Amino acid sequence: MSNVIKLEDIKKSYYIGQPNELEILHGISIEIKYGEFVSIVGQSGAGKSTLMNEIGILDRPTSGKYFLDGIDVSSAKDNELSFIRNQKIGFIFQTYNLIPQLTAQKNIEVPMLYARISRKEREKRSRKLLELVDMTERAKHLPSELSGGQKQRIAIARSIANNPAILLADEPTGALDSKTGRLVMDLFHKLHKEQNKTIILITHSPELAQETQRIITISDGRILSDERK
Ligand code: ADP
Repeated sequence: MSNVIKLEDIKKSYYIGQPNELEILHGISIEIKYGEFVSIVGQSGAGKSTLMNEIGILDRPTSGKYFLDGIDVSSAKDNELSFIRNQKIGFIFQTYNLIPQLTAQKNIEVPMLYARISRKEREKRSRKLLELVDMTERAKHLPSELSGGQKQRIAIARSIANNPAILLADEPTGALDSKTGRLVMDLFHKLHKEQNKTIILITHSPELAQETQRIITISDGRILSDERK
């Protein structure tokens, strides 16, 4: 199977050209295949968020190459990056990042709005996604009327709205109690098994990482180990 992600010697520095120039990622190379469920683990300060920003094209590397679903991201223009991001990556954050003024269903439709999908099609797809995450009864609720676990299920439904090549989840159970976190992890396993989604889980929890097929450990901006089960 071919790679959905290929990072080649990615380096990231801050304060470039200044006396306090600081290299955070020291040359990261990773290949991830379609349909893999991978976790990226490491202690606080190891560089996980910095790496997530690179994989999620939220930031550009100082040097190195990045291919995402066959696209050379490193040479894409700035105005192309947000389109690539919206089409190829579904983001899930610890703090859900739902829009407070929109209902659960409308939140799910946001990525489809950016992709200029018709209203009829948006409604059809968001209804299906609500069903998938078992939230049909809460379709008209605002985020403030949902529990943490329910908000995260809506965020996961939103993340797959445009059928992206990968899901990038940054500490998705970090704000949830263990029982609710379990339901969220079960949903990732379901998407992986039933829809063959490529999932990248960023976590500081070795226990959660153990549930995935492959564990990449980062320490001090380098890959310490990369183990497939
Ligand atoms: P993690 O997510 O594993 O906790 P981070 O990627 O947030 O680690 O941070 C890695 C290192 O990069 C830390 O030493 C942090 O202080 C530094 N760092 C992160 N962002 C910036 C920034 N914008 N400017 C300078 N240093 C940064």
